[in-house]
Amino acid sequence: MPKNRLNLTRDFSIRTIISVIIILILLVVFYRQITMDSLISQETRNNSELTNNLSQDLWPEYAKFLSSASSIPRKDLLLHPNFKDLNHSIQQRLRGLRVLKIKIYDLQGVTVYSTLQEQIGDNRWDNAGFQSALSGVPLSDVSFKNEMDTIEGTVTNRHYVYTYAPIQRSPEDQVEGVFEVYSDVTHLHNEINRTGYVITGGVIFSLAAFYLFLLFLIKRADRLIHQHQETENQLQEERMLFQVRHDKLTGLSNRSHMLELVEQALHRSRRTDKALAVLQINLARFRPINETMGHEVGDQIIKKSAVRMVKSMRNGDILGRLEGDLFLQLMEGITDSKEVANRANRLLEDFQEPLLMNEKEFVMTPSIGIALFPSDAQKAETLLESSGAAALKATKEGRNCYVFYTDALNASSRERIELEMGLRKALQANEFELHYQPRISPMNKRVIGCEALIRWRRGEHELMFPDQFVKLLEESDLIIPVGTWVLGEACRQCYAWHKMGLKGLRVSVNLSLRQFKSNDLPDVIEQTLQKTGLAAQYLEVEVTESLMAEELERVIELLQRIKRLGVMISLDDFGTGYSSLSHLMNFPVDHLKIDRAFVQDVTHNSQHAALTSAIIAMARSLNMGVVVEGVEDSEQQKFLEQYACEEQQGYFYAKPLPAKDFPTAVEDIKRRLRS
Ligand code: C2E
Ligand code: CA
Ligand code: CA
Repeated sequence: MPKNRLNLTRDFSIRTIISVIIILILLVVFYRQITMDSLISQETRNNSELTNNLSQDLWPEYAKFLSSASSIPRKDLLLHPNFKDLNHSIQQRLRGLRVLKIKIYDLQGVTVYSTLQEQIGDNRWDNAGFQSALSGVPLSDVSFKNEMDTIEGTVTNRHYVYTYAPIQRSPEDQVEGVFEVYSDVTHLHNEINRTGYVITGGVIFSLAAFYLFLLFLIKRADRLIHQHQETENQLQEERMLFQVRHDKLTGLSNRSHMLELVEQALHRSRRTDKALAVLQINLARFRPINETMGHEVGDQIIKKSAVRMVKSMRNGDILGRLEGDLFLQLMEGITDSKEVANRANRLLEDFQEPLLMNEKEFVMTPSIGIALFPSDAQKAETLLESSGAAALKATKEGRNCYVFYTDALNASSRERIELEMGLRKALQANEFELHYQPRISPMNKRVIGCEALIRWRRGEHELMFPDQFVKLLEESDLIIPVGTWVLGEACRQCYAWHKMGLKGLRVSVNLSLRQFKSNDLPDVIEQTLQKTGLAAQYLEVEVTESLMAEELERVIELLQRIKRLGVMISLDDFGTGYSSLSHLMNFPVDHLKIDRAFVQDVTHNSQHAALTSAIIAMARSLNMGVVVEGVEDSEQQKFLEQYACEEQQGYFYAKPLPAKDFPTAVEDIKRRLRS
């Protein structure tokens, strides 16, 4: 199961670290912005003040000279006495201040004075600071230089603020020039940086402490959530395991889980040297109730029966439901088989009291088959099989009884039971197959149809014929699902042959008396035709005369329904079943299939010959077709020729063949008939 685990700690850590980094960057930027702004404004004030002082002290004296200084060549200007005086005065006033440089611009932006003489004559008209000062507003900014020429000579690594300040005699007066003052703020700048580091360190420390505190909380939450998730997952797994191992309706262990439990019990029994009993309990009357009263009632009966079984169990016994009406009880620590017999008896007694359902009473009759370890079987699987075989025997012995697997089953019945158990699995395991025997019209020299005959491929090499198992299928009612399969498979195959070019081929399917027990046989046939696509006229069903002994009216009604579908009906093995000829007239039959016993002797036994010709004549007068079965040699064939017997079937033409060999056989027969 994919676990979509939530990892709070990881998510939290990633997010927090990203947030802390963002906060720190913002903080540093903000701090620098504020401190630099305040540094600049402080320096602007200082420098403006200095400018004011200079404007008031020196400007009146030199204004005139400076306003015309731009027209004097630099060389001359530097030697001019006024310039020298001004320079001297300025240098004196700047002593002890943090001023690195001073420049004076006239109103055209020309540098008319600078403490660095080589800058004299430069024009700064385009400079934003100059323009601002010209309009009366001082402007400053901060900057850095690795190397800089100043009043005190060349200095290195300096942060400085330069301010453009207007020269005005008083604030109301006109701007007459611009000072540019460079002041050294290196120590302040360093101070700001140091404080910045301290604040950043402090913030990092507090955030880290806060982060660790939250981390502690989150880790706890994470752990709790994981624990919760784990228990939830475990519960989910347990629930799923329970569903896989238990029967939905009763909540009892299902077959595979019971097998595991028996296996485990076997281990324990081997260790403790005690016997183990496996009881297979079959609720014999359940199926008809389920069919007549509906599945809801059936389900309730299963549930109530399970409760009753559990009540009659001893502590430590285990009950499971294998399928439908089949339960399995496991008893451990057995010392004596009588003990098991007593318990089985108790269970039977407990079931004598009817189950109450919707104010109706139902008496269930369990048949119990008991297999013991170590005497009957050594493995869980075989214990289950043996108990199943014993339960089958119990059912046959009249239900409501228990049977031990051991002596109760003699060799022949054991074989029979094994056969029956094999048959139960055969359909699911795809072990049945159909062989097809061609049906010939000698006069038309054609193969007009075929009879589908069932075979049971039991193991790799053993092919069993119907006389070995059809009776068993009928006795166990397995003939119903198997018969439905035969119908479907035969129709499917016939349709496939039509597609391959064997146009008009008919297929005959043998129906068992048992299949007429339920009234839905015509529906099953109709559905099969629909599902396989075969048109009804190509299907024929074969029934035997024994059908006439059954509830005649109901059977005739069923046959008529089948006939109305367009399906043909033939009466198989005719002549062996002492059918009443008067009933025969009421039977909606298309063909009589004369039993092969007659044909066998037609050439030696004149009575048989007479009977055969009589039957053929009778069928003609009843408007029925005749099929002669078991034609084995050419003499028989010649005899039948005299009577213009229209349809024949027998080894003389072909034996029943696997589907894959059928089309070639058809070709062969046609060739033989025409030669
Ligand atoms: P059936 O319906 O009388 O089928 C004819 C049987 O005679 C077949 O035996 C066939 O192989 C055999 N046979 C055909 N021609 C000759 C011949 O020339 N000489 C001799 N000696 N025998 C011949 P198979 O296949 O063993 O079937 C036996 C019976 O089993 C069938 O007798 C039928 O009653 C029953 N059966 C076969 N398939 C099914 C099925 O799908 N459902 C049911 N309910 N019964 C089936
Ligand atoms: Ca037949
Ligand atoms: Ca027959």
